[in-house]
Amino acid sequence: MGKEKNGEIIIDVQNVGLTYETNSRPITAIENINLQIKNGEFLCVLGPSGCGKSTLLKIIAGYLKPTIGSCLMQGEPIIGPDWHRGVVFQSPTLYPWMSVRKNVEYGPRMRGIPKNDIKQIGNHFLQQVDLIDYSDKATFELSGGMKQRVALARALANEPEVILMDEPFGALDALTRVNMQTLIRNIWQKTNSTIFMITHDIDEALSLGTRVIVMSKNPGKILKEFSLSFTYSAIGSKNGRVKVGEEYMRIKEEILDIISQ
Ligand code: ADP
Ligand code: MG
Repeated sequence: MGKEKNGEIIIDVQNVGLTYETNSRPITAIENINLQIKNGEFLCVLGPSGCGKSTLLKIIAGYLKPTIGSCLMQGEPIIGPDWHRGVVFQSPTLYPWMSVRKNVEYGPRMRGIPKNDIKQIGNHFLQQVDLIDYSDKATFELSGGMKQRVALARALANEPEVILMDEPFGALDALTRVNMQTLIRNIWQKTNSTIFMITHDIDEALSLGTRVIVMSKNPGKILKEFSLSFTYSAIGSKNGRVKVGEEYMRIKEEILDIISQ
């Protein structure tokens, strides 16, 4: 698959709905979702618990098939998980019997990439997440934030077209969380990646996203979207944080109003 130009559509979610069949009654998790993910954007998804954010991510990842509608990547239907879409979950699913390095190199190794290249890829992405000194540690020796950095490096090592993250920093303490936000922003910028990230933290969405979509529940729908540029104010700033001004506060209020309705 070729690299798109910035702004080109990579993922096209067309009229997607998903209903879970359960023993008691069917649950329509999402309905009528139309969404285009564009190359180079940092798309954040906000919404109350249960509004179908994870369901949507799993459909885009290829873990779930929509009940209705279709989901395309670069014009082709998504039929299953694929390393072109790297996924990072809230609790990192690392292989505990493998070292940090082996975890990061797992994807390239599975894809049959030559040994020397694998080593280089490993080094590169371990450096990007600042874990090169921990390469030989077992993952159980790491803190939560470090584990999440391994998970991120492991996804990045496949050089996916799109990175899908489901509340990746949700389980981390506040300080680690802010550091992870800075890290992911810098990686996004340096590698010109395309990111789809679910969060329930409005400030996280506003300070990272170039676009934020807000969902409502029962059933999950997209209510509103915002194009943003706050994330750029953090890049190159002394403290690495976004400038919070009137516009930021206005949008934050608006999203709070939508979500609390
Ligand atoms: P979110 O990630 O926004 O919290 P989810 O996508 O996890 O929302 O869930 C959306 C709705 O679908 C919720 O009502 C949830 O209870 C339901 N749901 C999620 N997964 C399943 C499942 N495997 N079986 C039945 N219902 C599910
Ligand atoms: Mg969820």
